[in-house]
Amino acid sequence: MENADTIAAVATPPGRGGIGVVRVSGKDLKSLTLSIIGYIPEPRYASLSRFFDGDGQVIDQGIVLFFPAPHSYTGEDVLELQGHGGPAVMNLLLSSCLSAGARMAQPGEFTLRAYLNNKLDLAQAESVADVIDASTSEAARCAMRSLQGEFSSAIHVLVQALTDLRISVEASLDFSEEEIDHAHHADVSRMLRGVQAHLEHVLASARQGSILREGVWAVLIGQPNVGKSSLLNLLTGEEASIVTEIPGTTRDTIRRTIEIEGIPLHLLDTAGLRETDDTVEKMGIARTRSTLEKANFALLVMDSRWGVTPEDQAILDSLPAGLPVIYVYNKIDLLDERLVADAKKSGSGIYVSAITGAGIETLRQRLLEMAGWQPRSMGEGVFMARQRHLRALTIARECLGNAAELDGGAFQFELLAEELRLAQQALSSITGEFVADDLLGEIFSRFCIGK
Ligand code: GDP
Repeated sequence: MENADTIAAVATPPGRGGIGVVRVSGKDLKSLTLSIIGYIPEPRYASLSRFFDGDGQVIDQGIVLFFPAPHSYTGEDVLELQGHGGPAVMNLLLSSCLSAGARMAQPGEFTLRAYLNNKLDLAQAESVADVIDASTSEAARCAMRSLQGEFSSAIHVLVQALTDLRISVEASLDFSEEEIDHAHHADVSRMLRGVQAHLEHVLASARQGSILREGVWAVLIGQPNVGKSSLLNLLTGEEASIVTEIPGTTRDTIRRTIEIEGIPLHLLDTAGLRETDDTVEKMGIARTRSTLEKANFALLVMDSRWGVTPEDQAILDSLPAGLPVIYVYNKIDLLDERLVADAKKSGSGIYVSAITGAGIETLRQRLLEMAGWQPRSMGEGVFMARQRHLRALTIARECLGNAAELDGGAFQFELLAEELRLAQQALSSITGEFVADDLLGEIFSRFCIGK
């Protein structure tokens, strides 16, 4: 990875705002700094400065911060120019940095440099993007814990235990099976079981983190006026309901995203599923269908006085086979209590009233259960994991499983050593000790520019 040149970008979002920041990073920013502000500011102190263009004209006036290498975000010299947050001013300031020798930064390039200069490991670098992209406050808190290194240290502890085990195994490679005593076998078995148990624990926490990061997808079905909006508002409770741009989907298929105990629940609309001969509309339907493929379950809301209507049934029939359905009977306040009691006994549906709030807690718990979330039981220990991390942990688990199978009394130490090596390699890919350049490219290209 090439990182010899100086990079610059507007680090604040496009548009108008009180303050806009241009950030520059490079091996040596002295001459660039001199040409933009005319002097070298005291490191890490805020100074009020005028910002100049190449012709010596004043572009703006603001705060300048200079972080000399290596004590900066990227580990290089970093200059932050905080000006007035308007697009024209920011463009002029950025152009001025480019004329002074910088080039436009790629998405995530500042963080990539921080990683390459060992300021962060890979899992931490990924959590920088996760903090920014977090769609719920719980997800943001969890990403912040990963950024501070909680996930990485759990992986390091695991790798350390695995290293101890490998040393023990590899020490015996010079001896024949007969020469290795029973106590050594027992030791290796015990250590292996210890590492396996620890890995299970990390994997479980990481799975929870992945739910928190990615949320769950549900198809929302229900006729007009059955009380869908009322229910959704009630479900989100005190937490503000949120609407987020979900990558890879079109807005028209996402009805909205709500938050239940910090878990994002993305509700997919079925409005676009009706039969049609119109070509354009057919394309829309195909798109809706492919979005529906990612649904974890369907949520059918009905008026408890009518139950499943033929229209509901038609949509249910068109959903991917085997998709679990939660049947929600709303407006039970309009029903006779005895009828409700009888219905509850006979069916597995959930009986609620968006007006009185009856049954809402049961519904909330069922939704979390369908998401695979174990409320509060894992508490603080949840790690913000990505699919990449889960895959690596799963590979490590398989290798350890293979290693354990070899433990049939007569260890084949060479095979065992190889499985343990592969397990360690998988784990180390999480924090980035072993990663290919193309993987780095893929990870950082999803960052925003200026980060
Ligand atoms: P949507 O079209 O499915 O989103 O339905 P709304 O949430 O807009 O509700 C339609 C109407 O039903 C509104 O007048 C709500 O106040 C009313 N409603 C919703 N839930 C209940 C309920 O549990 N009991 C009663 N009695 N009315 C409800």
